[in-house]
Amino acid sequence: MSNENKSIHEFDFQLICDYFSSLERQGPGSPEVTLKALSFIDLLTDESCIADIGCGTGGQTMVLAQHAPGKMTGVDLFPHFIDLFNLNARKLNLQDRVKGLVCSMDNLPFQSDSIDLIWSEGAIYNIGFERGLNEWRKFLKTGGYIAVTEASWFTEERPAEIDAFWKDAYPEIDTIPAKVAQMQKAGYIPVASFILPENCWTEHFYTPQVAAQALFLTKHAGNKTVEELIAAQRHEAQLYSKYKAYYGYVFYIGKKI
Ligand code: SAH
Repeated sequence: MSNENKSIHEFDFQLICDYFSSLERQGPGSPEVTLKALSFIDLLTDESCIADIGCGTGGQTMVLAQHAPGKMTGVDLFPHFIDLFNLNARKLNLQDRVKGLVCSMDNLPFQSDSIDLIWSEGAIYNIGFERGLNEWRKFLKTGGYIAVTEASWFTEERPAEIDAFWKDAYPEIDTIPAKVAQMQKAGYIPVASFILPENCWTEHFYTPQVAAQALFLTKHAGNKTVEELIAAQRHEAQLYSKYKAYYGYVFYIGKKI
C-alpha cells in the first residue's frame, strides 16, 4: 500500500493526538450543526446529565454547554485532549458544570439509567456505530436521547476508489437508511437524521489543517512517519473534494424507549 493510501488508524496514536491537539476540532462539524442537532432534544433542565463521548478538546461540548442547561462530562481516551478540554471550560467560565474525564468509550464510568443525553461527534466509529448504540444505551434514562455523527454513504453505489478507501478505513460505513434501522434495532426511536453540510468538512476541518500541517512538518522536519501522516491527511481531503457527492457525516438522533 502506498503511503498516501495509509489510513489514519494505522499511525501512532500519540502522533495523531499531537497533530490534532493544535486544532479546534478533531473531526468534521460546526457550531451551527451542533445547535441544529440540539434543537431536536427536549426536556433538558439544570439537573440534566449530559455525556460527550470522544469529546476531544471540547469544541462541540462548549457550544452545547453555552446553549443547554445541565451538567456535562466530556470523555476522551487522550489525556492531553482532556487537559485542553478543561482549560477551554475554565476560559469560558463553565468549569462548574463542564468536566473532562480521561477514559475509554468501551469502559464508561456512568451509572445505569443516569444520563439524559449522550452526545458524540465524529467519535463513535472508534467503538463502532452499532456497538456504541447498544452498549451506551444502558447509561441513558428512559426517554433520554443519543445524538451522534457517523460517516455514511449517500448512495447505494459509488466509485471503486472511494468505496475501497472507506471499506479499509471504516468497514461499518453504510447508507443512511441502514444506520437508521440499526438505531431502531438498538432500542431507540429514530427522531431525526440530517447530513452535515459541506462547510463542516472544509471550513471547519480541512482548511484549518493546512496551516497546522505546515507547522507540524517543520516541527518534525525529517521525520518520515510525520510526512506519511500529513500525506494521508492531504489525501483524505482530496478524496473528500472528489467524492463528496457519495459520502459524508450524518447526525443521527435517537430517543431511548
Ligand atoms: N468530538 C470531537 C473529537 C472527534 S475525533 C470533535 O468532533 O471535534 C475522535 C475522538 O475520539 C478523539 O478525540 C480521540 O482521542 C477519541 N477516542 C478515540 N478512541 C477513543 C476511545 N476508545 N475512548 C474515548 N475516546 C476515544
